[in-house]
Amino acid sequence: MMLPMVVRKWSLAIVAYGGVALVPWNAAPDQAVAGGAETTAKADGGRAATVTRAAARGKQVTEKLVLSDEEWRKRLTPEEYDVLRHHATERAGTGCFLGTKAPGTYVCAGCGNPLFESGRKFESGTGWPSFNQPIRESALVEVEDRTYGMVRTEVRCARCDGHLGHVFPDGPPPTGLRYCINSVAMKHVKAGQPIVLAQP
Ligand SMILES: [Zn+2]
Repeated sequence: MMLPMVVRKWSLAIVAYGGVALVPWNAAPDQAVAGGAETTAKADGGRAATVTRAAARGKQVTEKLVLSDEEWRKRLTPEEYDVLRHHATERAGTGCFLGTKAPGTYVCAGCGNPLFESGRKFESGTGWPSFNQPIRESALVEVEDRTYGMVRTEVRCARCDGHLGHVFPDGPPPTGLRYCINSVAMKHVKAGQPIVLAQP
């Protein structure tokens, strides 16, 4: 138990120095990562970015955000609510992030959970923002979706269980995956800006 405590204090120091908000899944002692967590600050054009990830052998635990349907209605726009909480899909070609190339992180519009890095975004031609890899495996959960006479793999936010989109096995290398995500289910946090998780 000693090593995770030491690592966590060091992580807090780095975060304070970089002026970047600490993500709570690394902050609460009872959310400690088996095998420890590491936080590294890396330079990005002179701007510090903080990257938190589970140690290679560790299993990261995402702190859940569970809210009532009434609370979600209050917090989300009608479009966000329909997609995130009721699995709606925005019309192809209408999403606000279709052509976005700005460096940064795409986070869940419901809870702020980091989902995808901008460098993993690619132009799929489908009409929806597409990525070939999540920021970390534990950021998402996958659920078999048999609606509309198809068998697809739905992708949800691991923190708030919000519907994001689907993942298909026809993406570009190196993963060969295409995460097809509704723009309205995400927000873009510019590189160097703090990522703030929504709280209960
Ligand atoms: Zn979420």
